[in-house]
Amino acid sequence: MKSKKRLIEKIALERINILLRLARENLKINPKRSARYVLLARKIAMRANIHIPKELKRMFCKNCNSILIPSLTLRVRLKRGKKRLVYTCLKCGKITRNPFGKRFK
Ligand SMILES: [Zn+2]
Repeated sequence: MKSKKRLIEKIALERINILLRLARENLKINPKRSARYVLLARKIAMRANIHIPKELKRMFCKNCNSILIPSLTLRVRLKRGKKRLVYTCLKCGKITRNPFGKRFK
């Protein structure tokens, strides 16, 4: 049973990866469709009961499902004094702060 669950997780992750890639490709051509791909990817994760890996989670806005591409839909600011990275979604204005240095963990 355990291996079956792992297989479901693996397939779900593959589909999430594909959907996020499609979302990136469609951002300029069709932003609405792009957001729908992100939403779909999140739904797949929910249904498969898996956590989306951190590196994938950073690729979209949890608030408006927009795929985040620096200078296009994402602004990144480094707050040196506070040692934090501040991400702003340019679609909805949602701000996410990440402790500096932990970004790639
Ligand atoms: Zn957003």
